[in-house]
Amino acid sequence: PRPHPTLRVRPLTCTETRRGDQQVVHSLGDGAVHVSAARHDATFGFSAVFDAGASQEAVFEGSGMRQLVELAIDGFSCTVFAFGQTGSGKTYTLMGPLAQSETQPASPALLGLMQRSFTCLLEQSRSRGSDLALSASYLEIYNEQVRDLLSPGPPCALPLRWSKTRGFYVENQLSVEFESLEAIVSLLLQGVMQSIPHPAGSQRRRTSAHALNRHSSRSHALLTVHVRSRAHHPPNVVLQASACPSKQGTLCFVDLAGSERVKETGSSGELSVEANSINRSLLALGHCISLLAKPRGKRTHIPYRDSKLTRLLARSLGGSGITLMVACISPSSRCLSETLSTLHYASRARKVTTRP
Ligand code: ADP
Ligand code: MG
Repeated sequence: PRPHPTLRVRPLTCTETRRGDQQVVHSLGDGAVHVSAARHDATFGFSAVFDAGASQEAVFEGSGMRQLVELAIDGFSCTVFAFGQTGSGKTYTLMGPLAQSETQPASPALLGLMQRSFTCLLEQSRSRGSDLALSASYLEIYNEQVRDLLSPGPPCALPLRWSKTRGFYVENQLSVEFESLEAIVSLLLQGVMQSIPHPAGSQRRRTSAHALNRHSSRSHALLTVHVRSRAHHPPNVVLQASACPSKQGTLCFVDLAGSERVKETGSSGELSVEANSINRSLLALGHCISLLAKPRGKRTHIPYRDSKLTRLLARSLGGSGITLMVACISPSSRCLSETLSTLHYASRARKVTTRP
């Protein structure tokens, strides 16, 4: 199946409206979006476009996310990744405004693709009895280091290995079983809080949304739900364990680092290390995507090994993986050049074909 590039255009923020930013992005219907500004005039095509008026539910239902959840239950490796510049709505699309305040839960209407998918998985699990086992792992890639966001204590780097049977995998990665929405949402929050660097002794609870945004614009966060299903057998049939068919699917949510850092050059010290590793992984991802877009016969080797991100996503990008990409943009004239670069990047993904 092909990945489904979907576009989400967030509304203008209060600040943007107040300072009188022009809206330069317009949805034309039928998956077409038009960008018009002084020296630019271009139309881009997507599987689906969600504009400022689209609800979180509309994005879940219209992007193919529900089908992705069902494919994961059927044993496929499924990935949804949110891509775009900082402030374009990636985290909002995936999680809703959840991370803004720990004490005030978001209204159900604002829940993101993640919570909606969890609900869908748990409903399926309940209707199938105990035949569906769900567990989650949560990683981030920061400065080309993989960190486990579910393990307590200061984040430490975990090795990323490869084996013939498993492909790329993270050694000693924690995976936690869950059976309720509260449980998985609290794992999610725990991971979000864990991702922010804390000066010794500081209070986790007081971490601001600002600190969170600052950090998330420099790291990739990957939450993976492992879905193990056992086929149902009549109770009088005794099967050997090995003969009992079990499927293992995955559903991975990737909140990518802000794409605007791709162009950052000339910064010094810590910032340039961060910018370089984000550069490297987003460019490697773009490179793999454009190679996968070539006709099968003309395809050369796909350089998944070029970054940690592409190694971790190798299974979902190639092979029998199914990928949903949500490109996020701001409609503001001030974001024009970043918006165009996101649209170009996403339109390459449109052409990728992988084996079913
Ligand atoms: P990113 O994760 O790409 O940096 P965020 O998801 O944090 O961006 O969004 C930036 C700001 O815009 C946040 O204040 C968020 O609440 C708001 N926002 C993003 N998308 C929407 C939307 N579709 N509707 C309303 N507000 C949004
Ligand atoms: Mg974010």
